[in-house]
Amino acid sequence: MPGVKCSVFSCGSCKRTKGMGIWKLPLAKDEAHGKWRDEWLGEIKKTREMDQNFREQLKNDRIYTCERHFAPEDIEIFHSEKMTKKKPRFGALPTLNLPKKRHESRKPTPRPERSIVKDNKEPLPNRYYKGFNELCQGVKSLKSLKNWKMKIKEDSTLLKKRLDPYVLPQLEIVVDDSLGFTVKVFGSYLPEDHPIYLQYRRTVQNVTVSNLIKELEGYRLCDGVSTLELSGKMFHHVIPVIHDSLGEEEEEQQFPHRGFWRAKGCLLLYQQVDICNECDEFVSSVENARKGKESRSAKPAHVKAPLY
Ligand SMILES: [Zn+2]
Ligand SMILES: [Zn+2]
Repeated sequence: MPGVKCSVFSCGSCKRTKGMGIWKLPLAKDEAHGKWRDEWLGEIKKTREMDQNFREQLKNDRIYTCERHFAPEDIEIFHSEKMTKKKPRFGALPTLNLPKKRHESRKPTPRPERSIVKDNKEPLPNRYYKGFNELCQGVKSLKSLKNWKMKIKEDSTLLKKRLDPYVLPQLEIVVDDSLGFTVKVFGSYLPEDHPIYLQYRRTVQNVTVSNLIKELEGYRLCDGVSTLELSGKMFHHVIPVIHDSLGEEEEEQQFPHRGFWRAKGCLLLYQQVDICNECDEFVSSVENARKGKESRSAKPAHVKAPLY
């Protein structure tokens, strides 16, 4: 089943992910199952808006939820000689790894470089670094920082990972003196609602720097959208390339670079699949608009249709 993707907002799991359990909503075959279905759907709805796309999926019974959102004890595993099958336990609900709804997490103000998300209701229990000094000590002692360069300044710590042949760092993390962190990917800021920000509330009080790095390195760069037609809902992510590294043909390029067209709000770093949720939704909305236009223009005008 290609194209089966977890419906939880910004979760990248799909059917192609090996060994990943991904399930449809339970069928409402009796009252108890109906209740289970409603509650399950209720959890998914908390993570996303009821947009056209979602209503469509619901209508066609194509709401999928992956196992990442279920507690391990809520997943039943069946082994047979040929395969392993997983199933959620009756009544289990997806409550883990859920992002907040977009409009709740999105702030209208432009994104400041140094800020931490302040909407913390209650602090997470672990405090990894007590203060900026402790963080700097921790960063200095990191041995896992192969390919990373760090710079400790008075009011911030900068970590950069370079990748040949690109001029801009592949990953760049700035931790400010209030322990808030900001991530750039090839010069482009991660969107405010990126799962990694939501998960740790954008502060290294909730994650060690080495784990943050590990997680960031585990993501994949979104391929963006192939340019159908230019639109204001896209942006061009240009990554300059070092001149020497180019082959003969490319040497003609005046400003050597690799460019990606992305939907605004592109998550940049995404899991397992080629393109992120934002870009994917953008492509389908363009596609739907195009189909709509085609079918409208294919219909002959009504006799009484007004002339323009
Ligand atoms: Zn998922
Ligand atoms: Zn994207």
